[in-house]
Amino acid sequence: TQFNQLGLAEPIQRALAAKDYNTPTPIQIQAIPPLLEGRDLCGIAQTGTGKTAAFSLPSLHYLSENPMRSPHKACRMLILSPTRELASQIAENIRGYAKFMRLSVETVFGGVPVGKQKRKLEQGVDILVATPGRLLDLIDQRALKLDQVEIFVLDEADQMLDLGFIHDLKRLAKLLPHRRQSLFFSATMPKNIEQLAKGFLRDPVKVSV
Ligand code: AMP
Repeated sequence: TQFNQLGLAEPIQRALAAKDYNTPTPIQIQAIPPLLEGRDLCGIAQTGTGKTAAFSLPSLHYLSENPMRSPHKACRMLILSPTRELASQIAENIRGYAKFMRLSVETVFGGVPVGKQKRKLEQGVDILVATPGRLLDLIDQRALKLDQVEIFVLDEADQMLDLGFIHDLKRLAKLLPHRRQSLFFSATMPKNIEQLAKGFLRDPVKVSV
């Protein structure tokens, strides 16, 4: 399978060609078709497998086929990441895949002043990559609402639990709209993580690489 056989929107294919990506990785081959159909997905995958493109390319396709300006203080796609480094890396990758599209991709994470992040959210953003604690701060400060989220991604679930984010995740889960597409990734899937995944996903496709 080649990327040009997956039916991705033209600007995405152009960005992949510009990066010289021709062949999808195994997780991309398994995940992209069901995600394009709108299915939920539960993936066991480590960083370095091409996971970021696996979840972002179908999402970019959806956003390009369903163009709409995000409402103020809202986002259309939310990606939760355990650390600011990972959040920044995800955002940077997505900006590359979206470089021929007009989409806003922003990050919010702790350890830096909140004021600038509040201003970024004011007009609404298409894709927001966030760490859980700062995301909840911004919600509590009325700088953001999650009721417009159409695609939700929880990345590195096992790291999230190791870092003590379980309560934040459970709070966030209640703030998401019921009608959404959800993606859940973890490097390992012990019972407690499987349980957490069940709370987020509806009839997910399972992939493992
Ligand atoms: P990730 O697992 O998403 O962090 O991706 C690992 C690295 O592989 C990143 O630097 C990506 O830019 C790169 N990458 C992802 N998918 C492909 C692909 N299909 N072909 C070549 N490189 C890729």
